[in-house]
Amino acid sequence: MRTLYVKFIVITTGMMLISFILAFLISNTYYHKKIKPYNDEKNTKVALNIATFANEHPDSNLGAYLENISDVGYQLYLVDTLGYEHYFGEPFRNNSLPASTKERVLYGHIFHGILHYPRETFVTGFFANELRNTIGVPLEHNGKNYALFIRPDIKFLFKEMHVLFGWILLLAISLSIVMVLINTRYLIKPISTLTKATKCLANGNYNVELDSKRDDELGQLSQSFLQMARKLEQMEEMRKEFISNISHDIQSPLSNIKGYTNLLDHESISKEDRTQYVSIINSEIRRLSSLTKQLLLLASLDRNEDVMKKKWFNVSEQIKGLIRKHQWAISEKGLTLSYSLPDIEIMGDPSLLETVWDNLISNGIKYNVPDGSIEISIEQRGNSVFVTFVDTGLGMSKAEVERIFERFYRADTSRTRSVEGTGLGLSIVASIVKIHNGVITVKSTEKEGSTFIIELPVK
Ligand code: ADP
Repeated sequence: MRTLYVKFIVITTGMMLISFILAFLISNTYYHKKIKPYNDEKNTKVALNIATFANEHPDSNLGAYLENISDVGYQLYLVDTLGYEHYFGEPFRNNSLPASTKERVLYGHIFHGILHYPRETFVTGFFANELRNTIGVPLEHNGKNYALFIRPDIKFLFKEMHVLFGWILLLAISLSIVMVLINTRYLIKPISTLTKATKCLANGNYNVELDSKRDDELGQLSQSFLQMARKLEQMEEMRKEFISNISHDIQSPLSNIKGYTNLLDHESISKEDRTQYVSIINSEIRRLSSLTKQLLLLASLDRNEDVMKKKWFNVSEQIKGLIRKHQWAISEKGLTLSYSLPDIEIMGDPSLLETVWDNLISNGIKYNVPDGSIEISIEQRGNSVFVTFVDTGLGMSKAEVERIFERFYRADTSRTRSVEGTGLGLSIVASIVKIHNGVITVKSTEKEGSTFIIELPVK
């Protein structure tokens, strides 16, 4: 059984066959239990009526009378005390009947051959055209004793009907097989289409078309498949963009380093130039190093590895430490820093959260204006801690705010471009806040400043 189509047809036809056999067995049992005794009783009545009529009309022609009875659909057998036999109607397929049975009927007993006809599993006695399968009654006519055996002539009764029934059965079976074939094709078709679509997808063609309008399980499957294809396409796009961004961000410091080392090779360069070139090379190396560190961190956050090493720690102390670290840069830019940092402990990964605060403080410094200000506060409300960073810096447009958490995104203004950065900082911040089940909100107005609020659960 290779295909689902063949499997389905074989299983359905098998089931049809089994139900047919079961139905036959059940109806056969029903015949033996219910219909057979009823048939026996009915035919005994008919036989007794015939015998009574013959008895009450001694002058009538018994042969002609019985011939008439056979014409309405009975098979009859008449035997007298001397053993003379007469058959009326269609001949029996089997004429054997024990002599003792005939004798018992001649002596006045009733023979219930239909009721006692041997039970056979696959042949309902109804159709057995045998002398044994009859009702025998004693018959007295014109002073003579007879034994009359009678059974309905099934062939006669069903002459036209059995052909019709045969055709109906044949037609029902053929039609159901044809329907199974068509229906199976209809059922299997979307699965074959899905298989083709999967192959297309595997070959990198995301433009697959499926019938997703069906409102059954297959329709849902097609819809989910299309969603998956769209998601994969987006991810592929992101992957390509990511690689091109990384290549660009690695390539540009490398070519700068190459350019400046070539310049350093010239013996004629002045001491000041040499110091400046070495400083540029150092800064490019720092940029490369920070880029690789950020990429490594992002990769481990992406892999959903168990990067978190949670413990209780004092967030305020941590932020104060970072302020000390950035103090020099803050004073150099002439910024005013104010803070409100009451002692608050939370459960989280101290090293990852330090990266978050570090990024937000350095962005507050980098994208600030001379003599601007930075305000940092921390506050506990219920089960959440709110850490807020407000700066009076360059600010961002609405469109820029929407994209700042994208990897490698840097607002494309001459002022921000002049500042060192990779465009990865805030995407790392967002990932860390997310794995801490926190929320980050940004409010910003161009040329006025920005506010970043991080809400973290205390536990
Ligand atoms: P990077 O600072 O390395 O460029 P980030 O992911 O930290 O990368 O920031 C992305 C962009 O968002 C920055 O390039 C900048 O344009 C904008 N940005 C971030 N923080 C601020 C801020 N405090 N004020 C104005 N712009 C900001």
